[in-house]
Amino acid sequence: MVQASGPANNIRREPDAHPTRLDSLELALLQAVHLFCGVLLVVLAAKTRLKNHLYLLIHFFSRIMQVLPIHNGANTTECPPLGKLIVLTGPSGVGKGTLMNEILKRYPELHYSVSATTRSPRSGEIDGKNYYFIARNKFEQLVTQGEFLEWAEFAGNCYGTPREAVLNHVQSGKLVVLEIELEGARQVRTSFPSARSIFILPPSFSELENRIRGRGQDSEEAIARRLQRAEEEIAAANEFDIKIINDDFEKALTEIEKAIFE
Ligand code: ADP
Ligand code: 5GP
Repeated sequence: MVQASGPANNIRREPDAHPTRLDSLELALLQAVHLFCGVLLVVLAAKTRLKNHLYLLIHFFSRIMQVLPIHNGANTTECPPLGKLIVLTGPSGVGKGTLMNEILKRYPELHYSVSATTRSPRSGEIDGKNYYFIARNKFEQLVTQGEFLEWAEFAGNCYGTPREAVLNHVQSGKLVVLEIELEGARQVRTSFPSARSIFILPPSFSELENRIRGRGQDSEEAIARRLQRAEEEIAAANEFDIKIINDDFEKALTEIEKAIFE
């Protein structure tokens, strides 16, 4: 039986800490409270017998005011307004790629994460656009270097999401879409709990088989592996935030648009 497997324990990186951001209103309030307390402290000291130690209080207060902007700065430079991560999953042949192509045509501002894979290109697939097609030893090297946000083996090939590009785009405020299989989606859920996950279902299992065969791109062996894996993936559909049945193409597109932008 072909199993999708996650990264081996010895090479898997710890999940990323999801960046957090103090609300700017909270920061403004925090600063105002500190300012008020500081002024109060200095006025009280000036009026009481702490007068002689006024310089100490001013020094203490100025230290607080120095530290605060450092924390504010960290929030603006390291955690700029965050974008959103969307994870699109579903069995092979359900129509994810076709749906995504249409979504990207309509919304070029979305960033689609191009994965790396050890699978051979299908006819018409372009390196760097559909996937980065790489050799298995290169893939393994990237895994050990921690270059993937997630990765998994699927139907005999490895697939992985380049970490840095995704994080950079999310941190620059973009909507980033990953189209990945179940194990990878689970890894992203752990490292990016705020990601929105969408599972695309076929109207029926026989229609899924028709679509894989109709695509005419996979060998009999690959079709069998994908169908076997499809059963396991469909059984996990309830783990996802949103489930969409891709029966009527336009209807499914509208539902995906809603899920991405709401
Ligand atoms: P995936 O990316 O999920 O593996 P594809 O996008 O390659 O799937 O789609 C598999 C096949 O199903 C393609 O031939 C595509 O044209 C077809 N397809 C996609 N959506 C529908 C739909 N709603 N109704 C009928 N055929 C569809
Ligand atoms: P295909 O070979 O049909 O292009 O893709 C096979 C499966 O691998 C699909 O379910 C697809 O969504 C998934 N996949 C594509 N890229 C990635 C990736 O970067 N990571 C993971 N985990 N799965 C991926």
